[in-house]
This record gives sequence, C-alpha cells and structure tokens, in this order.
Amino acid sequence: MNYRHAFHAGNFADVFKHLLWVSAVQHLKRKDKPFFVLDTHGGIGCYDLQGNEASRTEEAMQGIVRLRQHSEHPLLQDYLAVVDSLNADNGGRFYPGSPWLTASLLRRQDRLQVFELHPQDGEQLRQNLAAFSNVKVEAPANGYQALAAALPPLEKRGLVLIDPPFEQTDEFDQVIDALSKGIRRWSHGSYAIWYPIKDRVKIAEFHRDVSAIPQLEKTLVIEFMPRAVTPEKGMHGCGFVWVNPPYGMLNELEPMLKLLVQSLAQDQDASYRIDWLIEE
Ligand code: SAM
Repeated sequence: MNYRHAFHAGNFADVFKHLLWVSAVQHLKRKDKPFFVLDTHGGIGCYDLQGNEASRTEEAMQGIVRLRQHSEHPLLQDYLAVVDSLNADNGGRFYPGSPWLTASLLRRQDRLQVFELHPQDGEQLRQNLAAFSNVKVEAPANGYQALAAALPPLEKRGLVLIDPPFEQTDEFDQVIDALSKGIRRWSHGSYAIWYPIKDRVKIAEFHRDVSAIPQLEKTLVIEFMPRAVTPEKGMHGCGFVWVNPPYGMLNELEPMLKLLVQSLAQDQDASYRIDWLIEE
C-alpha cells in the first residue's frame, strides 16, 4: 500500500468530492429521522497542508486555496464552514477529509462508521476523530468488506462513500463487486463512488459494469475536468457514479459544477458533465 492521501489533500478532486458530499449530508438532515453514513476508505480525517507530504506536491494550490477566493458564494457556505472550523487563526493550514466533514455535520441521532486499511493512517484517523461522538472507526480494516458487513443499517436511510486510491489494477472490479453486494443487501441506500479520470476507455467500461448490476435504481454520473482530457498520463478530472442521489441535492449540482469550472479551471477546456446512467 503506497498511496497516502496526505500528498493529495485539498486538491481539485477533494474539493469536487467534498463539496458534493457535504451537500448530500445536508439534504439528509432535512428530515428528523436518523441516518447512517458508511465511509469505506477513510484516510486520516484531517490533513496538514503545511506538512511534508502536502508541501511536496502543493496540490491544494489548485484546489481549496483557489476555491477560497470565492468563499462568499452561498453554495460553498456549508462546506467552507467545516474547513474554516479547523482554521481559526492559521490561514487555512488544515484540511478536513471525508470522515471529518461527515462527523462535523452529524446530529445526535445520526451515525458514521468509517474504515481504513493502512495501519498507520488508521491509527491517525482514530486519534483525529476521537472527539466526535456517534463515530466508529474500524482500522485496520478492509472497507470493501464493510458493504456486506455493515449493510443494511438499522436507520433505513443513509449514504455510502466509496473512495478508493485506485492504485491496484483491478480496483474498478473490486468496486463493482463490493457495490453489487451492497445493493443486494440495501437497494435503497445512496452510494457515491468516486473515481479518477485518467483513461476514458476504462471509465466507459466501469459505467457499463455499474449499469449491469441487478436491482440498481436511479444512478447519476457527475464529472469535473479542470483541464482538457488528453492522452497524456495523469489525472485530468474525476467523477462520481452516484446511485440513488439524495433528491434535493439534484438542483444544486449544475450550479455547483459551474462554480467549480469557473473557480478551478486550469485551461480553457475545463468542463463538467451530469448525466443519468440509469434514469428514474
Ligand atoms: N475518503 C477520504 C477523504 O475524502 O478524505 C480519502 C480516501 S483516500 C482516496 C483512500 C484511502 O483508502 C487511503 O487512505 C488508503 O490507505 C485506504 N485504503 C486502500 N485500500 C483500502 C481498503 N481496501 N479498505 C479501506 N481502506 C483502504
């Protein structure tokens, strides 16, 4: 396991992922009934952007640092409020990962279960989230197995975030296998699967394999490309396949993606895409 998220914290992909994630959690809070969140690939929960790893790549400069220049925008308020809560007096030094964002937004009746396989990162995650109630950290533990073990939740409604490092060649296959198991156990759950856009052929195969999962309900593809997608190596963009996206969130997607293109474009070909893979 070579991947450490600390090298990439706060980059354009994190901003895309976390902005939409916060919107989804907030929409679930519109009803009083409790909900459950499963985060299968947790990372360490909180990142020091002045630390050794983040300083070496400076990826946050094209992500959260640029987005902050638009901090007055109403669509960013909930997300930036959590980022700011970590940065009272330090000029944006710390950046929250997905488990921290979720944990900060939960109410007393809601619950988060988060998995991390890397032993050191898992220990750091446990320490970083220690102050939050309603949060259970499973580490070191395989998040793919959680989809069979933790679902369906007693709460009956909730979100699953699947955010793998994609360092193994069969990672897309592992995602399909785990998602199929999850859907069999809990077909009404809302599943957000994040992926990097490096190879368009691979992504088309992934979308085809997702569509073939039995019992799948409405499923959306949301992608953000801050620059032209070229055959050159590297991550040109990223996306979500989102099974059963929270209903109220749909109206916000287009303006959010437009805002991301406007604020994080790296060239004039920056773009986004929102399409149903499986329509309602
Ligand atoms: N979701 C996090 C966030 O948004 O802040 C970032 C997660 S990072 C992209 C992927 C993480 O998954 C890494 O910390 C890696 O160690 C961990 N990991 C890799 N394989 C795993 C597995 N099978 N189960 C759980 N965690 C895994």
